[in-house]
Amino acid sequence: MRKLMTVAAAAVFALGAAGCGSSDSGGSNPTVDSGAKFAAGSTMEKLNKAQKITIGTKFDQPLFGLKGLDGKPKGFDVEIGKIVAAKLGIPADKIEWVETPSKVREDSIQQGKVDLVVATYTIKDERKQKVDFAGPYYIAGQDIMVKKGDTSITGPDSFKDGTKKVCSVTGSTPAAEIRKHVKDVAGQLVLFDVYSKCADALKNGQVDAVTTDNVILLGLVDQSKDAFALVGKPFTEEPYGIGLKKGDDAFRTFVNDTLEAAAKDGSYEKAWKDTAGAVDPETPTLPTIDRY
Ligand code: GLU
Repeated sequence: MRKLMTVAAAAVFALGAAGCGSSDSGGSNPTVDSGAKFAAGSTMEKLNKAQKITIGTKFDQPLFGLKGLDGKPKGFDVEIGKIVAAKLGIPADKIEWVETPSKVREDSIQQGKVDLVVATYTIKDERKQKVDFAGPYYIAGQDIMVKKGDTSITGPDSFKDGTKKVCSVTGSTPAAEIRKHVKDVAGQLVLFDVYSKCADALKNGQVDAVTTDNVILLGLVDQSKDAFALVGKPFTEEPYGIGLKKGDDAFRTFVNDTLEAAAKDGSYEKAWKDTAGAVDPETPTLPTIDRY
């Protein structure tokens, strides 16, 4: 965590030293496209005119979306959200961040509570019945976290004998997947609304393991001061998308174009380096965008 903060501080300093971008303690500020012009009546025009965007993210997931003491979330998802806002001509300090735990994401989009969701959000056909996805912008994989030194859990099949308890989050893909591997769902699977509660349950010995995407677990391990460890064998693919209102194809195309441009101009790489890169130094390449 300290390493992460040092990197973030260095990034803010670098921006200030170069004289570009206003300094905002919430992390980096991608260059705002002040000349952005959009088709009349489009979501892009509406947001640009309002000079405000509401983005749903996680508030308790280090490296991807973690609310800091200053009240602002930080992480790779947050940086991706800022990149999209900047292309809309909206500076980072005009983004309203809303916490969207896993199970409320589709509803929040459908009800118009948020304009976008960038929240370790796997692109799934079931979810596409309700919302649309730009991306993917990253591909994670489901893994398992245990107390450091516990060698009794080596993968999802370690839950087959019915003795070990595993924690995940309601409405998440890992919760659905792990059901296939446990013997006794009611007795073994513990569900909360957010992953930080699972980490607490692991610490207190209420559960033997936590399961979700490897990068979320990596952040929790990093935060745990060496108390937790990853089993380290991802057993699913979780392509992360940016959720938006179903049927808004022009907005989806715009967000997809923005992701591709960010991969070309270095801002995607910078977003990673300033956040998750502190723990996973290998910068990913932007996956092929699925323009379905
Ligand atoms: N990526 C998975 C999902 O969208 C797990 C992470 C999460 O719950 O945010 O369900």
